[in-house]
Amino acid sequence: MQADILSKLKSSAESCYMCSLAETRKKAVFGEGPFDAPAMLVGEAPGADEDELGRPFIGRSGRLLSSLMEEAGLPREKLFITNMVKCRPPENRLPARKELEACRPYLLAQIAAIRPLLVLAVGNVPARAFLHTGEGITSLRGKFYTAELEDFPFMVRPVFHPSYLLRNRSVEEGKPVSVTLADLQEARKFLEKAIPGF
Ligand code: SF4
Repeated sequence: MQADILSKLKSSAESCYMCSLAETRKKAVFGEGPFDAPAMLVGEAPGADEDELGRPFIGRSGRLLSSLMEEAGLPREKLFITNMVKCRPPENRLPARKELEACRPYLLAQIAAIRPLLVLAVGNVPARAFLHTGEGITSLRGKFYTAELEDFPFMVRPVFHPSYLLRNRSVEEGKPVSVTLADLQEARKFLEKAIPGF
């Protein structure tokens, strides 16, 4: 059932022309992961490598995020990984408001089908969208928040975007890499508590 819904959504996104990003994308990046994943990871938008191969978070910053997830005991294979918009904005700019609005039904449908317990909101754009705030990721990260979609509650944990971590590579305590690892470890602990044997 979930697989059917997500498979149809994926086909729809791959031939979608609901916003101007369709004109410049090579491949839509619908997302990947188990259809019954207990957690989702939602970034901002695909980059160049993702656009080329149609897979999320596989470029330099994605590899850094994946290695931190692995270190935190939260391997990416256990999560459903996607972005706020499914097509790459030119020059890797942030998605525009009208592009976010046009693509929002895909994300909402993904959440409704997967029904995750937890969403990792990666970077400013998803953190602000999920938490309905204009605050930045620096003040939002480090905590769990409750969100809701059509009476279905789930937790949100905002984390720094890995492209920011690439520009701030220090692994000293208190620096972005170290606090992101701590956020991912907290996410893993939350899932372990909620799902015995996770
Ligand atoms: S970004 Fe979303 S709404 Fe825009 S063309 Fe791609 S799939 Fe459609």
